[in-house]
Amino acid sequence: MLRIYALFCGALEFDRQLFFPENAPGTPLVVPVSSFLVEHVGGRLLFDTGIHCDALTDPVGRLGKRISSLFSVRSGAGEGVVGQLASLGLKPDDIRYVVNSHFHFDHCGCNGSFPRAQFLVQRAELAMARAERKRYNAMDWDLPLDYREIDGEHDVFGDGSVVLLPTPGHTAGHQSLWIREGGRPQMLMTGDACYTREHLEKTILPEGTYDAPQMAHSMGVLRSLRDRKGVALLYGHDAEQWQALPRAPRPLN
Ligand SMILES: [Zn+2]
Ligand SMILES: [Zn+2]
Repeated sequence: MLRIYALFCGALEFDRQLFFPENAPGTPLVVPVSSFLVEHVGGRLLFDTGIHCDALTDPVGRLGKRISSLFSVRSGAGEGVVGQLASLGLKPDDIRYVVNSHFHFDHCGCNGSFPRAQFLVQRAELAMARAERKRYNAMDWDLPLDYREIDGEHDVFGDGSVVLLPTPGHTAGHQSLWIREGGRPQMLMTGDACYTREHLEKTILPEGTYDAPQMAHSMGVLRSLRDRKGVALLYGHDAEQWQALPRAPRPLN
């Protein structure tokens, strides 16, 4: 039996047009930043690490001029992956695996807090981060961490319960987390493969999409898992869905 927790890692405020390119600019949007903890008999797994805490006090220094001009970080005390784990009585060293959906600043900002974990990242994501350094913030990911490069779908614990599913397009090596056991129905954390339910319904491809046809294809895969197999999708930045989710320290399942 798996136990799953939704961890609140603060919020981001930005122009709604970044998410919905059809919108006129000028309307702000606030969305949650999340991480998920999976407790398996084989160890604890964390999906994404949120935003680095320095982004709140020194946004330009931590995020750089471009990102800090587009996004404002909104978070309070304890809203961050380490504080959320503490609310469950856990320390970073209690985590065996960290899975990064991808290397954007709001998904791997606290990687450095987990020096003893093994990081499971798609090979294509690491390759893109190394080759196109301007697209990523090296402070977040380029650290002496134990990165294990995954190529395609990956069964983390070898029992089919927790599977990494490649969902490229948002970035070259984006992956989602599919919980096939322990939840009824099955659950899938999409990460940024799909920001919100509305994006999936209308196949909206946001600003900054790396490969549009590939992203549309990945959204089709997610849609088919939802509609044909009854998998519950947990979207990457869906404020409405997030409001309704039980959050740590309460379990999700
Ligand atoms: Zn992203
Ligand atoms: Zn994101």
